[in-house]
Amino acid sequence: MNDHSTDEQSSRKLIIAIDGPAGAGKSTIASRLARKLGYVNLESGAMYRALALKAIERDASFDDEAALVKLAENARIQLEPAIGGNRTLLDGRDVSSRIRERDVSEAASRVSVHPKVRAWMVARQREMGAGGGVVMEGRDIGTKVFPHADLKIFLDADPVVREQRRMTQQKIKGDVAASVAAELRERDRRDRTRVASPLVAAADAVVINSTGLTEDEVLARVEGLVKERMRD
Ligand code: C5P
Repeated sequence: MNDHSTDEQSSRKLIIAIDGPAGAGKSTIASRLARKLGYVNLESGAMYRALALKAIERDASFDDEAALVKLAENARIQLEPAIGGNRTLLDGRDVSSRIRERDVSEAASRVSVHPKVRAWMVARQREMGAGGGVVMEGRDIGTKVFPHADLKIFLDADPVVREQRRMTQQKIKGDVAASVAAELRERDRRDRTRVASPLVAAADAVVINSTGLTEDEVLARVEGLVKERMRD
């Protein structure tokens, strides 16, 4: 291998897909990996959340596919990746915190079942990631958005562990914890059982179960896989 080919390989801008259920650690791993590689971290879930917020604000039914597509077509949903935390803009407004609230989480899970809503999202996500140099996370990145991604990771963990992580992350305690856990389980069930692009590992994804692993250990495994792919 000469110097020239080494240069070319290290500058190859990969498309990395990270899918999995809520609380498996996707966001943390994706953002740390992107930072290390100098890549952009795109959270596809934030787009579904932004549309869900718009539906809430416009009083649109989460079951009305046509109305939701229209809302999406007239919305400006922007993901602004940043080292200190990604920002999400809806029609020019910073909604990064608002879209993490419980009502939006629930609504995002419901608007995302519609095939035409998904088709709109997938088209935008493909545009955003087309140039490579991206770590895109979600539920259908490896199966649908980028079926030819250079590396596909399916990050999973035991349901109880995922619930606990989510509680710690969002500092949820006491009485609320049980209902938040139940909501998380219901969103998971909906993601896995919907007809359009259900949450499933792509046939060629590397499945990592993070249950007994630290964040650093998961990241190290993923980095190892990235290095392999860069050599391919
Ligand atoms: O990843 P996050 O929890 O922010 O996603 C919010 C919701 O958006 C998920 O519960 C899921 O229903 C939906 N989603 C999806 N496909 C993606 C990303 C998110 O259906 N690629």
